[in-house]
Amino acid sequence: MCRFCLVVLFFTYANFLAHAEASGQEGRIFQEWQINFEKKALLNGITAEVLEKAFKSLKPDLSVLEAAQNQAEFKRAIWDYLDRAVSVKRLKKGKKKYALLKEDLLKIYQTYSVEPEILVAIWGLESSYGEILNNEKIVKNVVRSLSTLAAFDERRANFATAQLIAALKILQNGDIDANHMTGSWAGAMGHTQFIPTTYLQFAVDFDGDSKRNIWHFELDALASAAHYLHQSGWQKDLPWGVEVALPKGFDYFLADKNLKKSLKDWQRLGVKILNEGSIKANTLTKQSAYLYLPSGYQGPAFLLFKNFDVLKRYNNANAYALAIGLISNGLKDKPLVVAEWPRHLKPLDKNEVEVAQRLLTESGFDAGGIDGLVGPKTRRAVRSFQKSKQLVPDGFLTEELLKRLQIE
Ligand code: CA
Repeated sequence: MCRFCLVVLFFTYANFLAHAEASGQEGRIFQEWQINFEKKALLNGITAEVLEKAFKSLKPDLSVLEAAQNQAEFKRAIWDYLDRAVSVKRLKKGKKKYALLKEDLLKIYQTYSVEPEILVAIWGLESSYGEILNNEKIVKNVVRSLSTLAAFDERRANFATAQLIAALKILQNGDIDANHMTGSWAGAMGHTQFIPTTYLQFAVDFDGDSKRNIWHFELDALASAAHYLHQSGWQKDLPWGVEVALPKGFDYFLADKNLKKSLKDWQRLGVKILNEGSIKANTLTKQSAYLYLPSGYQGPAFLLFKNFDVLKRYNNANAYALAIGLISNGLKDKPLVVAEWPRHLKPLDKNEVEVAQRLLTESGFDAGGIDGLVGPKTRRAVRSFQKSKQLVPDGFLTEELLKRLQIE
């Protein structure tokens, strides 16, 4: 049976098999994979001793494949995501944690030049301030998860193999032992959810016990996150972005990541900063910014600075970086979002985006391929289509726009 067919079969029975011992054909595939992987690991400098310990009576964890499958079926509007990410509960708990760790956070700030509220925001969003680390349904053994993905999930096999080798290097370094090296189904570990390669590159020891323990010691994790942002180009004491209001008749083609302008130039175009008082004027004048409309012309607008892109190095999603920015605002009692989200609109899922891309391409608007992902080319194609129909060219793909495309 092909590997893909086996994966499908596993999904079907995953609920029943999740904790059962692997046997029969899947057991053989796993063994075969393990023999090949061990050769690769040895070539990458992993010792036979570490390999033997890590793989001793190791069985695949089929619940990992189920979690990976569920991940693909994702459809949520940005306002729904932000409602959960920037919740009153998360802010309240974050303020308590901030107060509790204030002095240590200040030390981290002095070393890595990243503001405490940004670090607490990342901690809160990544692991609910460490709460999820106690959730047995979410937290899995990293070597077991990554081995399962590497052996059975063809789409993720390369990623999982690289992460697994990095995970074994961590074990070899002695920061943690295999039983305590836990993480998400995809191998994101500890309070700040570092994947093994990120850990190897950026994890630091805050308290000087020579162990980089991001699993059980939040300050090691927070200092590691600060080190990561610092190395990614974080600019100390500068904002990630500001909410703005756009004038009537604004040219929405200007809302493009590749179109950076100074604040003065934006103001000349009639763009107005909301809550200007909450931001030090001198922190804005030196920087260039691009305009971002997360939900089209009917929703909030933001001018984004370099630090926003640095946050995306942590997790490459606009919604994620926006959530971190807003939580950090909330922790300092700065304003959250002023404009209303267009909650009546319905965003598209991956399949629907593919349909839209096909229709756009057929109508002569180059969507840059049909992959179900909304990138700059698809957004530009949507704008051009909107413009040709005298609609506001904001590039935002919704069910309403898909219907319009279907009747053209
Ligand atoms: Ca430590």
